[in-house]
Order: sequence, then structure tokens, then C-alpha cells
Amino acid sequence: MPVYLVFFGPPGSGKGTQASRLANTLGVPQISTGDLLRDHVSRGTELGKTAKPIMESGALVPDDLVTAMLKDRLLMEDAAGGALFDGYPRTLPQAEALEGLLASTGSGISAVLFIDVPDEVITGRILKRAELEGRADDTQDAVRERLRVYREKTAPLARHYEAAGLLVTIDGNRGVDEVAEDVRRVASGRS
Ligand code: AMP
Repeated sequence: MPVYLVFFGPPGSGKGTQASRLANTLGVPQISTGDLLRDHVSRGTELGKTAKPIMESGALVPDDLVTAMLKDRLLMEDAAGGALFDGYPRTLPQAEALEGLLASTGSGISAVLFIDVPDEVITGRILKRAELEGRADDTQDAVRERLRVYREKTAPLARHYEAAGLLVTIDGNRGVDEVAEDVRRVASGRS
């Protein structure tokens, strides 16, 4: 049975770092919709042209576009044994779409790992990353907007997954290794 884990948390929570580490351990791909979209932007595809200004503003790319892109990615051979979702789903319609996609192959989400980090820690972390990586969508205004969008559209997913008995909260306000240890323990208990 393939293992599908969702990494969920505010921007800057470290979920990408954690997903990447666990992906190496488990030998399944980390699927980051942010990375996939940035790749489209850099290749100048139609999707990339549509997504670029939206990403720069800190808003969300429309659900149908992101879900179609995710569906294609899931069909790739390396995802046959499962995947770690990083940055998807970000809205309730995306969560429902993901459930539908996985159910169509007779599987489902094993667990949703909520990487919990307090607001005041988040803003500092994202601005620091912006400096280090030079990410165009990490300007002060865009960061503020991404946090607002996260609270409005994405944070409510915690209730959805809690009701489904899938949510596992992990204290993300610790060193990367300590968080990774918890993530690994949860993943091995749930897969
Ligand atoms: P990330 O690298 O996950 O922080 O994503 C960077 C930007 O890509 C976000 O601020 C959104 O504009 C867009 N994006 C990434 N994933 C999604 C998604 N699942 N739904 C909508 N927009 C997304």
C-alpha cells in the first residue's frame, strides 16, 4: 500500500525541509506544488505565465490549475509507492480533490503532519529565507499576504483533517533534527 503523507503548516514552518528529509528516508518523492509552479515560471509555460504574478502577490494559484498539475505529477512512475505532499492541499477544495485522486486508486492519506510554529517566529524565518534564497515572492508585502491567505484559506484544513482522525501536530519550534525525529516516528507509525 503506497504511503501518502501531507505536510501542513504556515509558510516558513520548515515543512519543506522536513518533507525533503523524510522523502530521502522513505524513498518516495516530495511533491512541492510551490517548486512545481516555480519550475513552470522559469520554463515560461502557459501555467507559469498565469501563476507568476499571482505567486508574487502572495495569493493562491486557482485550485483547478494546481490540482491538474498535481494530478500529472502523481502519475509519474516515481510516485507509484507514495508521496509526501508539501504545500498541497492549501484549500478545502484542494483537500477534497486530493482525497478523490487517491481514492480513485484505492488509497488515501495516511497522516497529515501539522508543523506548528508560533506566528512571531514565522515572519522572521521567512524574511531571512528571502534574503538567503532571493525568492521573488518573499517581499515584506507578499509575506504578509501569504500569512493572511494561510490563516484564511489553509489553516481551517486542520479542523477538516482532525475530524478525519488524520491530524498529528508536531512542535516545529525546535531544531531541525529534533523535529525530524518526531516526523520520522509519526511516519513510521502511520505507514
Ligand atoms: P510555496 O513554495 O509552497 O510557499 O508556494 C509559493 C507560492 O506558490 C504560493 O504563495 C502560491 O502562490 C503558489 N502555490 C503553491 N502551492 C499552491 C497550492 N497548493 N495552491 C495554490 N497556490 C499554490
